[in-house]
Amino acid sequence: MTWRSMLRPLRQRSDLYREKPLATAWTIEGVKEALAAKKISARELLADFYRRIEARNPELNAYLALTPERARRQAERIDALVAAGGPLPPLAGVPMAIKDVISTRGTKTTCGSKILENYIPPYDATAVERLEAAGAVLLGKTNCDEFAMGSSNENSAYGPVKNPLAPDRVPGGSSGGSAAVVAAGLAVASLGTDTGGSIRQPGSFCGIPAMMGSYGRVSRYGLIAFASSLDRIGPLASKVRDVASVLEVIAGRDPLDSTSTTAPVPDYGAELGKPLKRPRLGVPKEYFAEGMDANVRKKIEAGIALFRKLGCELVDIRMPHTDFAIATYYIIATAEASSNLARYDGVRYGLRVPDDSLLAMYRKTRGAGFGPEVKRRIVLGTYVLSAGYYDAYYLKGQKVRTLIAEDFRDAFSKADAILTPTSPVPPFQLGERTSDPLQMYLADIYTVTGSLAGVPGISVPCGKIDGQLPVGLQIFGPPFGEARILQLAHAFEQAGGAEV
Ligand code: GLN
Repeated sequence: MTWRSMLRPLRQRSDLYREKPLATAWTIEGVKEALAAKKISARELLADFYRRIEARNPELNAYLALTPERARRQAERIDALVAAGGPLPPLAGVPMAIKDVISTRGTKTTCGSKILENYIPPYDATAVERLEAAGAVLLGKTNCDEFAMGSSNENSAYGPVKNPLAPDRVPGGSSGGSAAVVAAGLAVASLGTDTGGSIRQPGSFCGIPAMMGSYGRVSRYGLIAFASSLDRIGPLASKVRDVASVLEVIAGRDPLDSTSTTAPVPDYGAELGKPLKRPRLGVPKEYFAEGMDANVRKKIEAGIALFRKLGCELVDIRMPHTDFAIATYYIIATAEASSNLARYDGVRYGLRVPDDSLLAMYRKTRGAGFGPEVKRRIVLGTYVLSAGYYDAYYLKGQKVRTLIAEDFRDAFSKADAILTPTSPVPPFQLGERTSDPLQMYLADIYTVTGSLAGVPGISVPCGKIDGQLPVGLQIFGPPFGEARILQLAHAFEQAGGAEV
């Protein structure tokens, strides 16, 4: 389908379709105020975003599909609410994008893979349902690494995404499309998923705040599984306040995901404005070792200095098992992936390459449907789970995972939050790392620790190298300490963190 044909239903309504996008950088508050003051209608805003998408997406390749009919129906509902003069729900009229590993009823959900090229889920993910119930207008589905495996979005079967800030560079991954659409103003906020860094790292590469809540904070129902003990859904937006607002809507117990927690969801927005009470921030030595780009280091040090200026106390801490995190992550994540991806067998749904023999049909379907990185991980994961190697790899990996979680527990007895770089390097060139999987895996060195430990983490913009390439500072909090790290990230943003 072409872009024009996807947007035809909207284009035909010339009353809703402006020729030039409005030149506004929208926030959630901004949208709500404009709607309430009747400066714009939800339908006009929607048409404006589709106009922007039409202009910019062919170059960025960040949206894989648009959902104009669904969006228009929702925008009409919001306009009716405005007309009735009642109170507006928290995300009223806010144009949002959804990573294509998150199920959307009636809309293709490909996971960036050929094997699900024509898969249309019969139900919505809980997070999607909650967004729409809160008034959000869903624009479409965003490109990502195949089954969320990657750090650059170059593993998508539908082509790479370009970084809107530097078009010769990657946007990060695997939620590259979700980060790029927000950074380019093609959505006000988006949902991504993070298994080992896939929300935080693209947020960092595209110069926007991006957050992974604690494991269990957001329901995974409808998220197509990569590694179930690590996968999390979370928000990306252009301001920390918007990240907080989206998290608040999607968080909370869901009976359809037994790992979602009953812990109450705080009013994150209200927490943001409270003054910092001289928090102690831990800076772990292990995150500043070799392999870190010198320019990134400079920006992170400037960011840490800004926190000191804000009245925070900085404490040196040790997290001695950090070195083992990449190996541990790539054992556990691949083991779980090999098991989760066994369901793509050409029988129940997704691609089928027919053959007279069942085994040959499996082989041909999986051979044609999965890309090289997904195959590599299935082979690795099958190996670490196989009889004879299980103890040496998978079981050992689980034990080290516990030690890494203990590092975090110890750290939080000395500090209220932990500061680290999000990525050791700035956004790299398209193609620069594709031939060396190990180099690609090393991009996750600072993010996978928090994933293994189950703690929340946020990446917040921390200056730009040469005024162009964004750097992200990561803040980890204790389990269910989302309010605390949002408050710190907000204070940092307000103090000019994006320009340090
Ligand atoms: N880049 C990491 C990987 O390739 C993390 C991916 C993710 O968080 N989904 O596994």
